[in-house]
Amino acid sequence: MTEAIDILNSHNIRPSVQRIAILKYLLEHRIHPTVDDIYLALNPTMPTLSKTTVYNVLRNLVENGAVLALTIDEKNVRYDADISSHAHFRCQSCGELYDLKQPTMSDENTPGFEIENVHVYYWGKCPKCMKK
Ligand SMILES: [Zn+2]
Ligand SMILES: [Zn+2]
Repeated sequence: MTEAIDILNSHNIRPSVQRIAILKYLLEHRIHPTVDDIYLALNPTMPTLSKTTVYNVLRNLVENGAVLALTIDEKNVRYDADISSHAHFRCQSCGELYDLKQPTMSDENTPGFEIENVHVYYWGKCPKCMKK
């Protein structure tokens, strides 16, 4: 696994203690956590960390391309340390966010446009909830 500090360096982000801790949490918890999830998880070991700081650190990471901000959840932005091209599935029953393979895009659908980024969101019921 790539170290948080290496990722920060490669995106020209100064590796502060808080940035390392937040990125490390994202790398180790591939559950696409929210600001609240990250804040609550890190608070016991970093009591000086405020929710605003978590938010600001995440915004900085997103702006520098080290982390993805996902707006699939209408209430909360979810964060993803996996910046490779992949699609997301949100289960409407349990609320869990899954990583899925990016569907193949064809140029026929976007004539004359140069595509720099694409984000695919699916909604529905996950296999776990289907079994219930
Ligand atoms: Zn589910
Ligand atoms: Zn993801």
